[in-house]
Parts: sequence; structure tokens; C-alpha cells
Amino acid sequence: MFYRLHFSFRVYVNDGNLKTQPKFVVFLPQLLELFDVCPTCKMPGVLVEVKGFSTMVQVETTCCNDNCVQKNRTWKSQPFMPGTYISAGNLLLSFAILCAGGCASKVIRIFEHMGLGCISLSTFFRHQRVCIYGTGSDQPLTWSFQTFL
Ligand SMILES: [Zn+2]
Repeated sequence: MFYRLHFSFRVYVNDGNLKTQPKFVVFLPQLLELFDVCPTCKMPGVLVEVKGFSTMVQVETTCCNDNCVQKNRTWKSQPFMPGTYISAGNLLLSFAILCAGGCASKVIRIFEHMGLGCISLSTFFRHQRVCIYGTGSDQPLTWSFQTFL
């Protein structure tokens, strides 16, 4: 009998739910291949600065072409939670640890062993206190934890 194995699959983005949207691990050198040329004028030799924000990466580029109509760009690997400046992946990680009954310190250690960007333990506890249980925040959030369920 012949079995055809599929190691790849098509990915679709068919809803705006941040929890169910597909997510992947990306290695930085592979990501930086996308920033080799300016997306506006296609000029090579773009200056690139990378900043990590736990599970989110931000890439700031400056085009060296003086005639470029958009010399500076900022790209983020994740959206923010609606109405906040909280990276969706960071909060979803806290949520997932809680829902799975996991141990945050062990999850963080696993991420460290893989070299993955990760939230800190204090960020996990802040998310748990402020965003998930809804205490300790002065500002009402425009989304609810029910959004994830
Ligand atoms: Zn350019």
C-alpha cells in the first residue's frame, strides 16, 4: 500500500479571532530575508533594526534611497489586543498557560531552551491579574477574556 504523507498544509486566515489565527515559529535570519530590499522602491541595502518584545519582534527599516517616498517603516510580528498596546501573542501565551493548567516558569524555561522570545514571569502574573481576572486596572478593556473562548 502506498501512503502519501503530507508534511505541509495550506494555511487560511478566515477570521479576525486572534486566538484561532495561525501562528508559527520564525527564525530571525529567515525573517530578515524579507527585509533585504525596500518594499517601496525595491532598493537593496536597507538599514534594519530589530527589537524584541517578548514573543513579538519589531523590525524598523530605513531605506538608503534619498528619493524613496517611504524611507522609514516599522513592522510588527503580532497585532495588539484591541484597544491596548499589549502584543496579542504575549497575552495569548499567558491565557494558554492558565487554561492548560500549566506552570508558567516551566513554559518560560522551555522557551529559553529553544531560544524563543518569551514573556517574563512577572509579565505572566501581571497579565493574570490585570487582563484576565480584571483587577488592578484603571482602564476598562474594550475586549473581554471571553473573546478567547
Ligand atoms: Zn525605498
